[in-house]
Amino acid sequence: MASITLDHLVKKYDDGFPAVNDVSIDIADGEFIILVGPSGCGKSTLLRMIVGLEDITSGNLLINGRRVNEAAPRDRNLAMVFQNYALYPHLTVFENIAFPLRLAKGKLTEAEIRERVTTAAATLELSEHLDRKPANLSGGQRQRVAMGRAIVRQADAFLFDEPLSNLDAKLRGQMRSEISQMQRRLGVTSVYVTHDQTEAMTLGDRVAVLKKGVLQQIASPRELYEQP
Ligand code: ADP
Ligand code: ADP
Repeated sequence: MASITLDHLVKKYDDGFPAVNDVSIDIADGEFIILVGPSGCGKSTLLRMIVGLEDITSGNLLINGRRVNEAAPRDRNLAMVFQNYALYPHLTVFENIAFPLRLAKGKLTEAEIRERVTTAAATLELSEHLDRKPANLSGGQRQRVAMGRAIVRQADAFLFDEPLSNLDAKLRGQMRSEISQMQRRLGVTSVYVTHDQTEAMTLGDRVAVLKKGVLQQIASPRELYEQP
């Protein structure tokens, strides 16, 4: 697990306009932070800066107090969960979940990989589907496989980029409570991008509101959405 500190982070693309403009947030170990705001406000850019897919123009990013501005994504031990799941169609559920462990070659034995994958699959109620291919799963099950890949790495934090936006309303509600339960069970630091207000209200310990790259407000869902 990890604390994540965003310290006056700025991102300017080639046009020079700051997509992320002087954003500072202290994310505590185990905290669930939601990033909300209209399309184009800089949510994805901020998330990609944290995970290391986007260079930081200025400011500092610290994980557990260590400055990681220049660290490669693989050296940050964070797990990104994308909205399109990014599953490999030709691999089984087992192999999809095992994939990040196999990339980290030589570190784990086959027995250790099997142990981690089956434990993650049990947590996600995927044990009966380990031999299936992604095409034979429901949207919600695919989402869980994507999360299994994050769990199995024992990452310091999960970063979610609108993970539920491709699901229908019923499934979205179901997955919302699954994510919430899992985050509390694992107690893993999470940063979650959405433009769904229900997700912002129900999932987060705190909600950060961005507008044109600027942090407008950061508060608990209750403070933010319940008028006094
Ligand atoms: P979202 O609505 O989920 O934020 P977008 O459609 O805005 O997604 O962006 C999709 C992809 O296009 C992202 O990888 C983003 O970096 C890239 N992108 C967005 N805006 C621009 C732009 N003005 N110039 C170049 N690439 C862009
Ligand atoms: P959000 O995720 O909130 O929709 P983004 O982080 O995708 O916002 O985009 C923030 C701003 O940065 C937008 O104005 C977008 O057009 C711009 N942008 C995003 N990616 C790129 C890119 N690769 N190149 C240039 N501009 C980009």
